[in-house]
This record gives sequence, structure tokens and C-alpha cells, in this order.
Amino acid sequence: MDDADRHESGDGVRDDEAVPSEAFETAPFDLVTEETRASILGTLATHQAEHPREPAMAFTDLQEVAGIDDSGNFNYHLDKLQPEYVRQTDGGYALTYAGLSLVGTLRAGVGADTTRGPEPLDATCRLCGTELTARYEDGLLAVECENDHKYPRDGLPPNAVTGRELEEAISLQTRRTQHHLELVREGVCPACFDDVERTHEELDEPQASHIVVATCEGCGMVSASPVGMYLLREPAVVAFYHDHGVDITGTPFWALELPVAEPTVVSRDPLRLSLSVERDGERLTLTVDEHTQLLDSERTSVD
Ligand SMILES: [Zn+2]
Ligand SMILES: [Zn+2]
Repeated sequence: MDDADRHESGDGVRDDEAVPSEAFETAPFDLVTEETRASILGTLATHQAEHPREPAMAFTDLQEVAGIDDSGNFNYHLDKLQPEYVRQTDGGYALTYAGLSLVGTLRAGVGADTTRGPEPLDATCRLCGTELTARYEDGLLAVECENDHKYPRDGLPPNAVTGRELEEAISLQTRRTQHHLELVREGVCPACFDDVERTHEELDEPQASHIVVATCEGCGMVSASPVGMYLLREPAVVAFYHDHGVDITGTPFWALELPVAEPTVVSRDPLRLSLSVERDGERLTLTVDEHTQLLDSERTSVD
């Protein structure tokens, strides 16, 4: 499959309220790319983990634990982090939801030089039958065959790989990609939660030739995945595989038929696609629109 991981971005629906590009480029990043501010955020995060019921820190405690001697400097930067990332409560200062998310993102990015593999997997490509190989490099987890079929090739933060075997990282990636695509399918960017613009494209490929590309103007993420990839969390699909003894939520994409299922064009205007998968004498047929919304599903026995 194609990059189930170029990332996502938005719908053009928000053009009328777009932030001036200059403000976008500088404001959110300047807020945190400063040592004192990073130290404040990290200190509040650690304190919250240790005191979940009382996450707020008093001004002087925060300054002391963060190790910032100059009160004026500390006060200035603490002020700059409000109200987006730090909020003041009766008990002192605590992280906002955005502050927590930011610390999580920074933490996930630690270990940029982490690599794994390449190592052969005990699995073969569903499209061409050659051996699959996995590797992690430059923040990208790739499971590919020698003919460049991808299952998928996707970004994954270094912290997801640190201390884990490559196979464990692939398992994490599998669930994460499903979750991301579930949001994209609803028109929402999983990274910044702006609207994404989704476009159906038909490729000159023998299988999985219909893809949906999602782009986000909010954060620049672009995601391109075959239609079948978007349907893995659909209840009718989960139930079908469950009835045939497969937990689809954690099964690698190369072990499933749906991610590479070749759609049949039922109609062009409006676009209607039909995909079928078979297991143990039963066929599941799904009909979807151009944004992969499920319009119909049918289970029939196969002779
Ligand atoms: Zn292949
Ligand atoms: Zn986004």
C-alpha cells in the first residue's frame, strides 16, 4: 500500500478564517523553543505525574524545581506560556490540555537517531509474494517487499520504538494508523484537528488503485491510503473478521485482504466503489462513496 502515513491536513473549508501565514509560522513555535519555557513545561508535567490529584505548583516551588534563578526572567517566560500552555488556578500553575499535548509531543520525539533493522519478517507480500522487511530510520517505520509494496510506510515518533522490538513497534503502528485513518475518514486531522481536504484518486496500479489523499492546511500533514485501509475500523468489517477468528484491530496490514482489495467502480457520478474480501467460504462486500463512507455491506456465502 501507499504511504498510509504521509500525513493529514485540511479541508479548505476554513479558508475564510485562515490565520495569517506569518503568525502561523512563528507564534506557536517561538512560544516553546526557549530553554526556560521548556523547563517550566517539563517541571509541571513531572509534578502532575507525581501529584495527579494536585497538579498545580505554587510560583516559588515551580521556579525552584525548574532551576531558574532569575525571578524576572522566570516570571516573563511563565507569563508567555499563558493562557495556551499553562493556566493559573487557586493552587498555582498547571498545564492546560494543549500544554500536556505539547509535552507529550516533545517527549515522543526524543531519540531522533533511533534506528532498527532492516530485518526480515516472517511474512510475505500479499501482492507479489516476496519476503517483507521492516526497518525504522529517520522517524519512519517501513514494512516493504522488494517490489516496493508498503504495509505501510509511516511516521512513528522515536519514543514509540525506544526499548521495544521492531515487531512491537509495528504492532503499535498498526493500531495508530487505524486510529489516524478513522479520524481522517471523518474529515479531521489527527495531528492538529483542523478539517482535512479529502480527494479520491485513481492510480495506474493493478491492486489498491483507488486511494484517498487527505491534506491539512493547518499543519501540513498529507496522508494517502488505499480505500480499503479506511474501512478497517468499520463495525461490519471488524465483525466479519471476528466471526472468522481474526482480531482485526491488531493484525498487521499484510495479513489482511482489505487493505489491498481492488475496488470495482459501481458508478462515476456520484462515485460509488465496491470492495469484496473473502474468508472461509464467506464474502463481505462493501459499497462506499468517494470519501469511503460506508453505504452498504453484504455478507454472502461463496461456493
Ligand atoms: Zn510486494
Ligand atoms: Zn493538521
